[in-house]
Amino acid sequence: STRPLDGKVALVTGASSGIGEATAVALAGAGAAVAIGARRADRLDALAAKLRDDGARVLTLDLDVTDEAACRDAVRRTREELGGLDVLVNNAGVMLLGTIVGADVEDWRRMLSTNVLGLMYLTHAAIDGMVEQGSGDVVNVSSVAGRTARKGAGVYNASKWAVNAFSESLRQEVTTKGVRISLVEPGAVATELTDHITQPDARAASQRMYSEMTPLQAEDVARAIVYVVTQPPHVAVNEVLVRPTAQE
Ligand code: NDP
Repeated sequence: STRPLDGKVALVTGASSGIGEATAVALAGAGAAVAIGARRADRLDALAAKLRDDGARVLTLDLDVTDEAACRDAVRRTREELGGLDVLVNNAGVMLLGTIVGADVEDWRRMLSTNVLGLMYLTHAAIDGMVEQGSGDVVNVSSVAGRTARKGAGVYNASKWAVNAFSESLRQEVTTKGVRISLVEPGAVATELTDHITQPDARAASQRMYSEMTPLQAEDVARAIVYVVTQPPHVAVNEVLVRPTAQE
């Protein structure tokens, strides 16, 4: 039986947990060979074993997206070892919520270097080849936080605003060359994302917000990503905003 992504190659960043892991599973399930990148090698190895059991071709990548050379290397190895690169999912990210007053500026550096610069490095490394082949998908995982700013989320908001602006600008640059740039913007998703918040009050408030509703599961977002990348070539799903029904 044929599957929609048979013969395609995808690279997913932040594939060691949450949305990235679910997306790698979903893309492999749709027939793609998948390169999975993150810093936690043990988690990637476990995922790779599971995907291979299900018959997928998998490449694990030791990838810190804040390292430009590592991003370039990840794209090069994907092309060399899996035979191409058709779908790049820029998912790696951190959400270090907290007030601006009294913030630890190191949180800001981590968010901007991961969510913004990391996404830009990977995109830059991948985009030339996609333009040359006249096709390809770059799916950037942004957030509701890229559309609605709130107190206590300022620099996370700024990072996702940057993702949206970069994506729309690049979309205009390459869409006539057959390369699609898409934004997927989730609301609250049950993942490890809030565990890393360093301001204790902000972490507690965020975890309370998630616990007071039925959040999205990572698989719900993965389904949106598969939808985006399985459209016919003339259809570009520019943006998908997906919230839990219970989220105001
Ligand atoms: P998780 O914390 O479960 O996953 C984050 C992933 O990013 C991990 O695989 C982590 O891997 C990876 N990562 C973090 N820093 C780096 C880095 N420097 N280099 C490479 N990989 C990195 O959270 P989610 O799955 O929820 O987050 C995924 C994306 O979804 C993020 O961009 C987030 O902003 C976005 N999002 C999430 C929402 C939610 O409610 N959960 C809502 C809206 C958007 P490792 O630590 O192994 O490197």
